[in-house]
Amino acid sequence: MRKGAITRDAVLKAIAEYDELGRARFLAKYRFSEARSYLLLHEGREYDSKAIAGVAHMWDQGRALLPEEFSGGKEHAAAWLKRAGFEVRAVKNPDWTRDEIILACHLVMTNGWKGLDANDPRVIELSGLLHLMPIHAEADRNEKFRNPNGVARKTFDIATRHPDYRGKPTNGGALDVEVLHEFLARPAEMSKTARLIRQGITTGDLQALALEDEGDLDDYSAPEGRLLMSRHRRRERNKGLRKKKIAAVLRQGGTLACEACGFDFEEVYGDRGSGYIECHHVVPLHEAGEGRTKLSDLALICANCHRMIHRCAPWPTPKELRHLIQTRRGTVTRVPDQQSAKVTHHAADGE
Ligand SMILES: [Zn+2]
Ligand SMILES: [Zn+2]
Repeated sequence: MRKGAITRDAVLKAIAEYDELGRARFLAKYRFSEARSYLLLHEGREYDSKAIAGVAHMWDQGRALLPEEFSGGKEHAAAWLKRAGFEVRAVKNPDWTRDEIILACHLVMTNGWKGLDANDPRVIELSGLLHLMPIHAEADRNEKFRNPNGVARKTFDIATRHPDYRGKPTNGGALDVEVLHEFLARPAEMSKTARLIRQGITTGDLQALALEDEGDLDDYSAPEGRLLMSRHRRRERNKGLRKKKIAAVLRQGGTLACEACGFDFEEVYGDRGSGYIECHHVVPLHEAGEGRTKLSDLALICANCHRMIHRCAPWPTPKELRHLIQTRRGTVTRVPDQQSAKVTHHAADGE
């Protein structure tokens, strides 16, 4: 059995049987339950996508797939049906991401921390903007995706979590609260972040980024959201820029050692590591606008240190990380007892 190898023809046959039996009997016959994640759209009607995909296997491969043999999601059923040329739509809209909540929270802030109604022009504008954001794939959205009602509701979810709000909070999730508190703690930075995300979407600069980066960003922590993070990574991975930076450092008589820990790839790996080092873009995300990247904005950082910088926010500068490493080396490697800890600590600082 080759899972997912289904033809358009087989899907149409499954649809025909579904129509003939009706939903309940079709699902019962093949022991599927109602679709929870995706619906198949065909000639103006909706079908349980997982059941249809499973039954289509009967026509192409001799037997229907059992519900427990595959998922209804984008790895399996939804993807197979799309590949066969069908339209698939999410049952439930995806949760709001940090980027989206940042924009909503900014709007609530500019409204004096009060929620806004669905017919407010600013809500309608934000709804349009959220549709342009390259974060949720088309197939994951249904017809109510981030419509003005949903956006208005989100502004109340945020506003009713404000510490000064005296009533009962409406729904909202942990991420709403998290972003709200970041706005309260660092209003200028977060407002700037919101403006940059907006700008990036309206100019199209951020459009192509986020979807392809998905999943890859798990080890990264950026209060500024995924879109600005993706732009940061794109800048750092720009081969031309890295080459120029390396050439500039060498020209000035420097080495390609990590600015934080001193690791030198060539020293450790010989020819295999020669000329290798990563670049980290040191300008904070909320300040790095659309402008061109200057070589002085890039620091040479080894792969390990680069990971550690991005692992949790706020990101340390290379210098801060170097300090941390030196402090730890001083205390961890040379100190058997508490007594001498302070002494070596200072000695390490002075190196
Ligand atoms: Zn390093
Ligand atoms: Zn970086």
